[in-house]
Amino acid sequence: MSYFTDSVSDLCQGIIDKVDTYEKRIKYLEEENKKLKDEHYKDSEMQRMKTELEKAKDDLHRGFPISKEEEEKIKEWQLKHDAEKHGLKTMEQRAMGHGCIGGSLTWCFTPTSIGTIGEVICSCGEKFTFQDL
Ligand SMILES: [Zn+2]
Repeated sequence: MSYFTDSVSDLCQGIIDKVDTYEKRIKYLEEENKKLKDEHYKDSEMQRMKTELEKAKDDLHRGFPISKEEEEKIKEWQLKHDAEKHGLKTMEQRAMGHGCIGGSLTWCFTPTSIGTIGEVICSCGEKFTFQDL
């Protein structure tokens, strides 16, 4: 009987020890997991800030406070406008056209109290607003 009691008690102790070990392991893993999440958060935050910085640098390099999207829009408009209004469809025509017919753009930035209005004006007078309030 004494032997049986001992073995049950040993068995119980063994289970308790195991549970304890598992609990410690779970806690350890939870902590590691949290650290990883924090690190991942920091990484993505750093990435976001880096992207913002690159964007700001690009804006500075262009010399105008315009975004890449606006730059694209302007290029698109200019190509379309030159083709439709000035008959400049090929690269050669465009290169020539800017000298004689016109087609070169005047940049116009109008600062207001709530922001800047950005326009490009063709020498023919046609305007394209790429930055609006
Ligand atoms: Zn024009």
